[in-house]
Amino acid sequence: MPIKLLDKATIARIAAGEVIERPASVVKELLENSLDAEAKRVDIVIREGGIGYIEVSDDGCGITSSEVLLAFERHATSKLSSFEDIYAIASLGFRGEALPSIAAVADLEMLTAVRTEESGTYLSLSGGEMLKHTRMARAAGTSIRLSRLFSRVPARLKFLKTPQHEASKVTEVVVSYALAYPEVKFSLNVDGRNTLNTPGNGKLRDAVLEVYGSDAASKMLDLENDTYRSSAINISGLVSPPEVSRSNRNSLHFFVNRRLIQSRALQRAVEQAYSGLLTAGRYPMGVINIRLSGALVDVNIHPTKAEVKFSDESAVFTSVQRAVRSVLVEKPPLLHVEEAR
Ligand code: ADP
Ligand code: MG
Repeated sequence: MPIKLLDKATIARIAAGEVIERPASVVKELLENSLDAEAKRVDIVIREGGIGYIEVSDDGCGITSSEVLLAFERHATSKLSSFEDIYAIASLGFRGEALPSIAAVADLEMLTAVRTEESGTYLSLSGGEMLKHTRMARAAGTSIRLSRLFSRVPARLKFLKTPQHEASKVTEVVVSYALAYPEVKFSLNVDGRNTLNTPGNGKLRDAVLEVYGSDAASKMLDLENDTYRSSAINISGLVSPPEVSRSNRNSLHFFVNRRLIQSRALQRAVEQAYSGLLTAGRYPMGVINIRLSGALVDVNIHPTKAEVKFSDESAVFTSVQRAVRSVLVEKPPLLHVEEAR
């Protein structure tokens, strides 16, 4: 076969496969955009596990009418201007991939407005093709509605699990971000039922209350720990005391510089901190915020940014483990420590 350049639509669909795996990945990308837009409120609606319908609405900065089309171009972003910026980046997005990727595999409508313009912009696209582009009123912010996700990518559709399973994956993403951003008010509606409503008052314990109930919220232990505040790695958050545990590993949430990450190694580090305190088959709950200089972590190693690379992994794992262990076991009284010196 001769070598030829693929057409734009094919390129977009192939690239989308890397970022957009399932409805939960769409919700993750849209939520991250809302948070990057400094939304104080994000409302999410899904139907049929997100396969039928996804809506994410925010009160963030919105997109100006002159930039709306650009937002759907590959590698178009307002968040990064040079490669080095990645190491100092405060935003969750930076690749300019999500919107074109999502638009390539679904029918999409967007209504967005900025404070400084009289009216907003409405767009409708099907499989990346523009159907409608007009001005429309809206308060500052952005709403995106999706339907027929993956209808043009049957192989991907087949790989999805049941709507209930996909809905639980979406819920996991929303819950995680609701815990990472307690100052933002999140709501989630699944098939017409309101399943989550965080107060958005900035208090992590109140967000935990909404997600895990009052018993867990009242008993969770504060990770804020003076010993680590001085070091280059800051650990904060809440972890469950040994008497509050779960039968699965889904309730431990890790964030690096406010970015949701997955890490088996960190999971193990925390579980080890509970060794001797939990019976077999029981797992801790917790929200663990890791903050460190952007120069010490590479956020650009994974297609969906679910994993990051620390320049000194063992320092991070040790800090997390010690921060957790020290709130679980009784600390020696200060006097005792001084006497020993
Ligand atoms: P990235 O987030 O990596 O920049 P995206 O494709 O997700 O790439 O978004 C492209 C651009 O569209 C963003 O850089 C941002 O300027 C704009 N944008 C997307 N979603 C929103 C939103 N909810 N509110 C404001 N601006 C948005
Ligand atoms: Mg983005």
